[in-house]
Amino acid sequence: VVVGVVRESNDGERRVALVPKVVASLIKNGVDVVVEAGAGIGALIPDESFVEAGASIGDAWSANVVVKVAPPSDAEIAKLTSGQTLIGFLAPRNADTKIGALKDAGVQGFAVEAIPRISRAQVMDALSSQANVAGYKAVLLAASESTRFFPMLTTAAGTVKPATVLILGVGVAGLQALATAKRLGGRPTGYDVRPEVADQVRSVGAQWLDLGIDAAGEGGYARELTDDERAAQQQALEKAIQGFDVVITTALVPGRPAPRLVTAAAVEGMKPGSVIIDMAGETGGNCELTEPGQTVVKHGVTIASPLNLPATMPEHASELYAKNVSALLELMLKDGAFAPDFTDQVVADSCVTRDKETV
Ligand code: NAD
Repeated sequence: VVVGVVRESNDGERRVALVPKVVASLIKNGVDVVVEAGAGIGALIPDESFVEAGASIGDAWSANVVVKVAPPSDAEIAKLTSGQTLIGFLAPRNADTKIGALKDAGVQGFAVEAIPRISRAQVMDALSSQANVAGYKAVLLAASESTRFFPMLTTAAGTVKPATVLILGVGVAGLQALATAKRLGGRPTGYDVRPEVADQVRSVGAQWLDLGIDAAGEGGYARELTDDERAAQQQALEKAIQGFDVVITTALVPGRPAPRLVTAAAVEGMKPGSVIIDMAGETGGNCELTEPGQTVVKHGVTIASPLNLPATMPEHASELYAKNVSALLELMLKDGAFAPDFTDQVVADSCVTRDKETV
């Protein structure tokens, strides 16, 4: 089977789907790898490194299996033909999903977002690997936007209190954000509607904020709150947020717009100079005053909503993503041939288009 690594075309997308180390191990397993010229440039990987790993540089778009990072554009789908396979983030639940176009093109699509979150599939869990990068980077952004120190400082010129950091939503990104804020010397607190994460919050040395709302849903995800719950949560958070120097929001509900946790009134109640990093901008934002992709100052509070944070750390983000993609590929290889076994839960769940049907 020939695996093609294409060059990403989205604005600001610097990641690449496979890195040379992973290419070498796939080749050892009997796979041929073709890389589009310049595919690794954004991640600082020159074509020569792919060649040294055993790949060739050429027409990656006509490979049997095309691997990429960002969801394909219409122009990219037009480069694919019936019978090819595409593996990547395919955004199956986004409003502007291209799943229909992939189906019409006869492309067999595997969406990494749809890989089940079971132990056996952890090595393939691209949502987690990229959320880890994003959670880390969000804290660094908060620190650089802040007018205050993160750590406590005792100096001849006086003592500085540590920054208080509130993380709203403690999934993979939120947990990494808590741990990163702690490592920087801040005083982190975590909040979520899934009470089961309280222990995880404490295990990274952070405090748990309990607002008494339990909205644990299916498969380890949260469910959407009812109108009453949402109103109660917004009111409780309005009070709780006031004392924090930094608020980082990561709350998501699969397939739904981001829940509104931080109202305009809550922002108004914060001390000027405080910082909000809204990581949910892609689905509308967790804060009422967020402008996705922008950094704005409202009531003296800086509100930043960076999009695609993993792409800002392309080296490690690509390295981790490549490991995820190659593990999924290897699951579907048999003696060097691409032979997905659709009775396997991971294969079946991640497949979104097959035989000109959406599944
Ligand atoms: P996510 O990105 O879907 O959501 C982020 C967080 O926002 C979640 O913790 C969610 O509970 C929270 N949230 C949603 N609505 C909220 C609201 N109104 N107020 C406050 N918080 C709200 O989450 P994720 O990072 O994808 O993780 C989801 C779950 O999957 C977690 O339990 C995680 O531990 C689990 N997981 C399991 C595996 C595995 O077993 N292989 C791998 C990765 C993640």
